Amino acid sequence: MIRLYNTLTRKKEEFQTLEPGLVKMYVCGVTVYNDAHVGHAMSALVFDIIRRYLEYRGYKVKHVMNYTDVDDKIIARARQLGEDPLALSQRYIEEYANELKSLNILPATSYPQVSKTMPLIIEFIQGLIQKEAAYAAPNGDVYFSVTGDPDYGKLSGRKLEDMQAGARIEVGEAKGHPMDFALWKAAKPGEISWDSPWGRGRPGWHIECSAMNLAELGEQIDIHGGGNDLIFPHHENEIAQTESYTGKPFARYWIHNGMLQIGSGEKMSKSLGNFVSIKDFLKQRDADVMRMLVLSGNYRAPLIFTDETQDAAEKSLERLKSALRPASPSASGLAAEAASALASQAENTKQAFIEAMDDDFNTPLALAALYELVKAINTARGDGATDEQLKPAQSMLRELTGVLGLRLQEKQGSGDADKFIDLLVEVRSEIRKQKLWQLSDLIRDKLKELGVTIEDTKDGAKWRWS
Ligand SMILES: [Zn+2]
Repeated sequence: MIRLYNTLTRKKEEFQTLEPGLVKMYVCGVTVYNDAHVGHAMSALVFDIIRRYLEYRGYKVKHVMNYTDVDDKIIARARQLGEDPLALSQRYIEEYANELKSLNILPATSYPQVSKTMPLIIEFIQGLIQKEAAYAAPNGDVYFSVTGDPDYGKLSGRKLEDMQAGARIEVGEAKGHPMDFALWKAAKPGEISWDSPWGRGRPGWHIECSAMNLAELGEQIDIHGGGNDLIFPHHENEIAQTESYTGKPFARYWIHNGMLQIGSGEKMSKSLGNFVSIKDFLKQRDADVMRMLVLSGNYRAPLIFTDETQDAAEKSLERLKSALRPASPSASGLAAEAASALASQAENTKQAFIEAMDDDFNTPLALAALYELVKAINTARGDGATDEQLKPAQSMLRELTGVLGLRLQEKQGSGDADKFIDLLVEVRSEIRKQKLWQLSDLIRDKLKELGVTIEDTKDGAKWRWS
């Protein structure tokens, strides 16, 4: 039984879908006006890992990720570049889609866009006005009325009285209450706009997700996801809109990932200008490194993005890859008992992996189980296991790392490394015969840094990947 942490109830709950075997999952995507950064990659990876795991556990997952392609920032950037806003956002959508593919993120079932959902958005707003959950202001804006929604604030745990204290109505806003939010914004001169019953304008940010959700997945869904910076106001407002419109509970489980932070603890964001684009990241490191960074921590916790944490993720990947290497050419075979012990450890690893992942996708614990298997495989190889004997454990490791979406590709040419290590170890033995200890220790220490352990035994030096 899978249990997951639900932001709405603030506790871990048993996962039960609305329809047997089917998961309807909506994840808020990006606003496309600039290069996406590794913080966006983190959120996309978290939900890719969750989706892959749910599929591994036998569910069919309908995964919807939207693109916000109409927005103040897009309009501002397009004006700056002298470009049509929708052409600009389309360009970034295509770039982002390619980056997700490079990160080995499975394609979503659908990618709705605001600009292509306009009739439904307008219909949705009309429905809210009819139900008196929203009102049209004389200036052509339409607002959602928070005071008409008795459980407004339930997702973020905020009370309207408290929120009201810091809020005020800005000049030019035609709101009845400071916390009321725009469903429709009257067009300013020269801005991209659409016809509506309230005059030309464009939708507010929150209504788009409610409408796209309804269009793609229906009135009720299983999982609604996004970064924890979206809990308030975006997701709070989505619940308010959708539940006021349908009269039914909206998403059963609200899942939120932590924020990616740079070394100083600052959140990475476009507006703070402290971001590393996915494009630049992929020039420096393998896509698996980003995924491993995400897997190494709890998805709800902040992810610390520094050179050190990236190096550590790279090392963890090397460790996993070391176990997938073939048997030594001189392998003489394990005793039958040792070989079957390795095979049964592989089965135990699978159980431990599933137990960890069933517990709110505890990837650090799942990885710990995999490292145990890595150790067992490498020990068996060192003890002379043949490829045939390593195979069941290696296949299991491939299967489970595959569930996490890791590719574990060897770098070009690194499959030949073994031959060179053999050669270095042989040269070192000659050096030792000549009692050049310093030089021999230097080779041993440098190889250790590269993940190769040399042991001097009475039958000569032996080496293994550590
Ligand atoms: Zn959204």
